[in-house]
Amino acid sequence: MSLIVQKYGGSSVADAESIRRVAKRIVETRKAGNEVVVVVSAMGDTTDELMDLANQVVPQPTGRELDMLLTAGERISMALLAMSIKSLGVEARSYTGSQAGMITDAQHGSARIVDVTPDRVRSALDSGAVAIVAGFQGFNRGTGDITTLGRGGSDTTAVALAAALKADVCEIYTDVDGVYTTDPRMVPRAQKIDRITSEEMLELAAAGAKVLYIRAVEYARRHGVTLHVRSSFNNNEGTLVINPVDGESNVEEPLIAGVAADLSQAKITVVGVPDIPGKAAQIFTTVAGAGANIDMIVQNVSAAATSRTDISFTLPKTDGAGTLAALSHARDAIGFETLEYDEQIGKLSLVGAGMRTNAGVSAKLFTALYEAGINIEMISTSEIRISVVTRADTIAQAVRVVHTAFDLDAEEQAQVHGGTGR
Ligand code: ADP
Ligand code: ASP
Ligand code: MG
Repeated sequence: MSLIVQKYGGSSVADAESIRRVAKRIVETRKAGNEVVVVVSAMGDTTDELMDLANQVVPQPTGRELDMLLTAGERISMALLAMSIKSLGVEARSYTGSQAGMITDAQHGSARIVDVTPDRVRSALDSGAVAIVAGFQGFNRGTGDITTLGRGGSDTTAVALAAALKADVCEIYTDVDGVYTTDPRMVPRAQKIDRITSEEMLELAAAGAKVLYIRAVEYARRHGVTLHVRSSFNNNEGTLVINPVDGESNVEEPLIAGVAADLSQAKITVVGVPDIPGKAAQIFTTVAGAGANIDMIVQNVSAAATSRTDISFTLPKTDGAGTLAALSHARDAIGFETLEYDEQIGKLSLVGAGMRTNAGVSAKLFTALYEAGINIEMISTSEIRISVVTRADTIAQAVRVVHTAFDLDAEEQAQVHGGTGR
């Protein structure tokens, strides 16, 4: 008997009919003799809609009450799914994150899992039932409050449960057939990847490929959980995210795994910074104090006449206002002239483990962008990734030309089954 954790994303349980379809699938897995734990997201765009509602009530909803509100979404889908499974003659019980033992720190909105005590889930399985767990939520022992794990966090719930229950596999069901060489919603000729290393998946997720949430990939890598990303709309094999043991690479590494786009970032330029030691430290201490997670940083050569330089960096748009306020406040202390804020940027990242041993990848990337007339504003690299910032409105074209330049285009168009891509 295998223990299978199945996670169904919002697009797979968007309406009553979808919930019944998913329930049938779960029942089939159970009847095939497996123990089944299901992690479910909120229906369709429910989380976004609850967020919009909160925004209409107060300008910047945060903290305890926002988490209370958002966790309601998963509570709805878990109960409906359990009802639907029971109606098909299989026992099912739903559990909130806290009932399922998802213990987190107290950081509302982006809590981290510190312990998983799935005793009730285990006993549900022992009694022959399917356990349904609300994704994306947890419980802090210190405050006694409900927390959320951050957007897309149901993936992490599934992986954490799979690790704690020593599941044989963690299946992530979504609205596309697996992980593709790029977002199939943006590039219809994206190619499905059969096997990808967790290292490459981590870079793709970090670079904006939201098919898997980065923390879930990290968690799976650390705990040796095998992920299978697949469609809830058909029975096609999806993508296996594997953790090759060091030194025994059991996949042939392609040069490039994929291309990711990220439109969630903004750019701040600190103009006229005195070019003397300590200024970057002051700027980024201020930025860190505002809680912003920065990504790329570029410092220009200073103008000889003024001995002043400009420093630009990218950060999530959601951190923009707070960071600008903190920097303005520190203007006299740092001694810069002005601040510029730009939300119209896009980031393209090319990811591939084969980059380590192949020269010429950046030359090919920059040539493809040049031939399409796309201007590069910032560049950053890691061992297996090259990222460039361009204007937001050129990013889709940029991804397409880069995808083609690296021979990633598929013969056939990818199928996108549901969802709104929101
Ligand atoms: P779910 O509701 O199942 O959590 P998400 O919307 O979070 O689904 O993630 C699935 C979506 O991720 C796909 O519909 C697709 O548009 C997008 N996506 C972005 N990059 C990729 C990629 N490289 N491979 C597959 N899907 C991707
Ligand atoms: N419902 C949450 C969200 O939309 C969590 C998830 O779907 O993974 O972010
Ligand atoms: Mg998701």
